[in-house]
Amino acid sequence: MAANIEKTFKFVVVGGGIAGVTCAEQLASQFPSADVALLTAAPLIKAVCNFKQVSKTLEEFDVEERPSSVLEEKYSNLRVIQSAVKALHAQHHTLLTVDGLEIHYEKLCICSGGRPKLLTQDNPFVLGIRDTDSAQEFQKRLSKAKRIVVVGNGGIALELVYEVEGCEVIWAVKDKAIGNTFFDAGAAQFLIPSLDTDKPERAATCKRARYTIEGPAATQGLAVGGGSDRQGQSRGLEEPGSALGPDWHEGISLRGAEEVSHRVSVEYQSEVKQIYTHQDFLLSPLALQTADTGSWPVYAQLSNGKTFGCDFIVSATGVVPNTEPFLHENNFALAEDSGLRVDDHMMTSEPDIYAAGDVCTAGWEPSHLWQQMRLWTQARQMGWYAGRCMAADVLSETIELDFCFELFSHITKFFNYKVVLLGKFNGQGLGLNQELLVRCTKGHEYVKVVLSGGRMLGAVLIGETDLEETFENLILNQMDLTPYGEELLNPNIDIEDYFD
Ligand code: FAD
Repeated sequence: MAANIEKTFKFVVVGGGIAGVTCAEQLASQFPSADVALLTAAPLIKAVCNFKQVSKTLEEFDVEERPSSVLEEKYSNLRVIQSAVKALHAQHHTLLTVDGLEIHYEKLCICSGGRPKLLTQDNPFVLGIRDTDSAQEFQKRLSKAKRIVVVGNGGIALELVYEVEGCEVIWAVKDKAIGNTFFDAGAAQFLIPSLDTDKPERAATCKRARYTIEGPAATQGLAVGGGSDRQGQSRGLEEPGSALGPDWHEGISLRGAEEVSHRVSVEYQSEVKQIYTHQDFLLSPLALQTADTGSWPVYAQLSNGKTFGCDFIVSATGVVPNTEPFLHENNFALAEDSGLRVDDHMMTSEPDIYAAGDVCTAGWEPSHLWQQMRLWTQARQMGWYAGRCMAADVLSETIELDFCFELFSHITKFFNYKVVLLGKFNGQGLGLNQELLVRCTKGHEYVKVVLSGGRMLGAVLIGETDLEETFENLILNQMDLTPYGEELLNPNIDIEDYFD
C-alpha cells in the first residue's frame, strides 16, 4: 500500500461551509506567515459577500459558492485541500483523509456542518435537502411530480411549500401550527393565507453565482442559476457539500408537472407513521381503507390516520451534526443533540480542537437573550469567533465572548415577507412568566413583543415594520416599559421618536 503523504500546518480548519471558510480567512489574515489549511469534502467553498450590519446585532449577507482557488489567491498562506477527513487522532494532532493524506495540526477547528435527519435511510422515494446537489435532485424529481408529501415544520419546509408550484403538496407538520421553530400560532395564522394566493412575480436574476468545475482542479466557468452542470466532479453522496442558505431556491425552478399554482394542504399534528411502496401498499389492509388510493410510487401513512400516495416524500425534519469521522477513539463531550459541545471559547473537550457552525453545540451558559439555532448567521459568527479564539490562544491573550452572542437576532424571508426575530422571540424558556403584545394587519404586518417583568425580551416582526432597530435597543437596554403598556404597539405613535 502507498505510504501516506504527510503535511504539517499551524492551523487546520475542516469544512468549506460558511463557518469553516470564515474561520480559515480569519486565521490566514491574522497570521500571514503561518501555514493555514482548509480541508473540505466538496469541490466548492462558500464565501460571504455583500455583508451588511443592519443594526447592532442584525446582519445580512449573501453567500456564493466559489472555487477554492479564490481563497488561495486572496491569502498566499492558505491552502485549500479537497479531501474528506476519514479519521482524527486527537492525541497525535493528526487527521487522515480518504485520499491518504496525513495532516498534522497545532490547532484544529472542526466545521463539518450537519446532514439531513432523514425519516428513513436508503429509500429512493424519500429525499432530504441539504446542499446544491440534493436541491438539484429535488428539482429534477419535482418536474415530473403531481403530488409530493413534505414532512417537517422548520425553515426548509416553510420555504419549500411556498415555493413549489405546479404540484400538489401535502404538508405534514407535527405541531398545531406551521413554522413552530420560528414563530407562534398567531404569526402562522398571518402567513397561512399566502399559501392560497398566487406568488408575486420575481425578478429573474439570481444572486447566487454557481461555478462549474472542470477536471480535478477548479476553473472559473461561471454558471449563474441552478441549471448548471457539474462536469468532472468526483464527489460521492457520502461526501456532503455545504448547507444551502436562505436563497437556496432562487434561480432554480421549483415547478411540478401540473398546471396549478399553489395547492398546499396542511395536515396538522401528524407525523409519518409508515412508508409503503406501491406494491406493499396494495397488499396492505390500508388499500381497502383509503378512499382515493390512486396509483402512486409511494404512500405515506400519517399518524392522524390519513394515507397519501405521492411521487416522493421530502424529509425536512432538521439536521444532525456531522461528527462521525471525528469521534472514533477520541474523547469529545457531545451535547444532547449530538453536536460537539464547545465552551465560550469554541473549544471542544479535546485539547487544541475547536468547533463552529452546525456541527457544534454551545455548551456555555448563554446570555438570557440568546439561543443557538443552526442558521447561516450563527455559522458565520461562530467561525469568525473561533478563529479569533484560536489566535488568542496562540498569542496567550485573553478574549471575551463576542457581543454577537448577547442577543439572538435573525433576518429572513418567509412566504415573501421580511421576518425579523429578536431575543426570546417565542418566549423560549419563559413559561408563564411572559406577557405578549400583538399588532396585526392582515396581509401587511404582524408584530409581536414578548415582555417579562415589564422588560422586552423578544420580538417577531413580519412585514416592513421598520421596528427592528428600536426594539433591538429596547431589548438590549432592558428598560422598564411598564409605563407605556399597550401604547408600545400603537400604530399612531412613532415609537422611534418616543424612545429617542
Ligand atoms: P455546512 O455549510 O454544512 O458546511 C460543512 C462543510 O464541511 C462542507 O463544506 C462539507 O463539504 C464539509 N465536510 C463535511 N464532512 C467533511 C469531512 N468528513 N471532511 C471534510 N469536509 C467535510 N440558515 C439561515 O440562516 N437562513 C435560512 O433561511 C436557511 N435556509 C436553509 C435552507 C436549506 C435548504 C438548508 C439545508 C439550510 C438552511 N439554513 C438556513 C441553514 C444554514 O445553511 C446552515 O446553518 C449553515 O450553512 C451551516 O454552515 P456550516 O459551515 O456550519 O456547515
